[in-house]
Amino acid sequence: MTHRVLIAAEIRNLVELAQLTDLDITWLAADEPTPKGDWVALVPLLSRWVGGTELKNLPNLRIVANVAVGYNNVDVVAAEMRGVMVTNTPGVLTEATADLTWALILATARRIVEGVDLVRSGTWTGWQPEQLLGLELRGRTLGLLGAGRIGQAVGRRAPAFGLRILYSARTPKPDFEKETGAVHVDTGRLLAESDILSLHVPSTPETKGIVNGETLARMKRGAILINTSRGDLIREEALAMALERGHLAAAGLDVYADEPTIHPRLLAAPRTVLLPHIGSATEETRRKMATIAIANVQSVLSGKPPLTPVYGAV
Ligand code: NAP
Repeated sequence: MTHRVLIAAEIRNLVELAQLTDLDITWLAADEPTPKGDWVALVPLLSRWVGGTELKNLPNLRIVANVAVGYNNVDVVAAEMRGVMVTNTPGVLTEATADLTWALILATARRIVEGVDLVRSGTWTGWQPEQLLGLELRGRTLGLLGAGRIGQAVGRRAPAFGLRILYSARTPKPDFEKETGAVHVDTGRLLAESDILSLHVPSTPETKGIVNGETLARMKRGAILINTSRGDLIREEALAMALERGHLAAAGLDVYADEPTIHPRLLAAPRTVLLPHIGSATEETRRKMATIAIANVQSVLSGKPPLTPVYGAV
């Protein structure tokens, strides 16, 4: 028996052909609206909103298999009410995203982009004692807002750079503390003591806008803000103002509130390293994400439980 499924066209080259048996696939490009019809599974990218209307238009839907670990693009309450499973792709993108977070930490602390720009401009006049002075990592404090899979993976890389780790999460992580010397603190202390603050909480109603004018003012003068989680955790205009005033030394961002649009004031702000949402963008990881999404679909359509359901995860 074949099942009619809607799959993001952009993952076509990443999925294993053998996984697609028994699926009657409609490849759906990111810029096409979600259609109405009798499809039983939807495999969307994080750029596709799947809310009440979309779910109503797909009355036979049994699963939304998101190709991301974050699932803030899916109305999970509406899905649960309609008996539609929602799955994500946890775990496989943890190390790739942690590496990219470190790329941003090092790029902002050591002013890599400004250095590249100076060399390329042809105006570099040679070694100078006070040129592009950055932040020495050794002895500083890395603050992790959220210490789940990715936050902890970022933290595990920190001792090699001589950083002390503070973290905030809903529950303490004794194994992580033992391994890295990390200390569980409340958000107030995290803001006040971090030289580098890195965001790893998901986007939820409680975390949206958690970095705003008031919380930025509580951060250390000269601190660096890193975000590889979700853009709407940050009020972008407030961040731009903190950078303009020099209250923050730098910001390294992979994600934005309204992708692919970036707030014009943030785009123009000094000392930013802005990446185009490439946290999980390694060949291996993107293949694994696509594979897990389709494996979830096959599992549910064959009457088995999903491999990586999201209900109850947050
Ligand atoms: P995770 O394992 O679920 O970790 C989330 C962490 O956030 C946990 O420590 C959790 O606390 C904490 N948390 C959740 N809600 C909170 C709240 N209201 N207040 C304080 N802490 C809260 O998720 P993950 O796999 O590390 O992924 C984190 C996020 O990264 C995803 O949601 C996704 O949006 C983003 N991401 C981005 C990229 C990219 O391409 N840039 C790639 C992958 C993931 P507890 O541990 O106490 O529950």
